[in-house]
Amino acid sequence: MKSVEYLVFSVLRFFRKISINPFGFGNSTCFFADFFKGFDKVPAVQGIFGEKTSEVLRLLKVEFTWFSGYMYVDDTDGHIVISRNYLNSGDRTFIYLDLIHELYHVKQFMNGRELFDPKFSYVDRPTEIEAYRYTVEEAKRIGLSNEQILFYLKTEWITSSDLDKLTKNIGLKRTEDLDR
Ligand SMILES: [Zn+2]
Repeated sequence: MKSVEYLVFSVLRFFRKISINPFGFGNSTCFFADFFKGFDKVPAVQGIFGEKTSEVLRLLKVEFTWFSGYMYVDDTDGHIVISRNYLNSGDRTFIYLDLIHELYHVKQFMNGRELFDPKFSYVDRPTEIEAYRYTVEEAKRIGLSNEQILFYLKTEWITSSDLDKLTKNIGLKRTEDLDR
């Protein structure tokens, strides 16, 4: 196994050990680097923040809440909000890819970009297209098939025609309908 793959696998394995109700029942906040260990060594993360990777992850706050969803970047201060249910029961590879996606948004936020520009629909928003492009590249690199990537992109809030638009916008082949 190549060392980069090994690194990603060890990060994913780490989730499994710590993800069961890490902080009891309330909402809680900690620093990204204290919870998701080893991400500063992941090339896809280094590709986002460059030489500032360790510093950014050390100072980036992560909030764990009970909302029913996956994760997002709070655009008031750029911290990541993660659903505890998702962290506890979601697919580990998808959680990893979501973290890459959200870290990409963190970088956009740091660059002064407007993350939720209402002028665009979700699948046409430039910040989303860029984050998805980057994440899909990482998904391919760690070995996901085109079909698995489509399955990853087909969240319950995205319609079939929106998935068409998104895959077109990020340059991914759309082969068939998939339900997640
Ligand atoms: Zn996004």
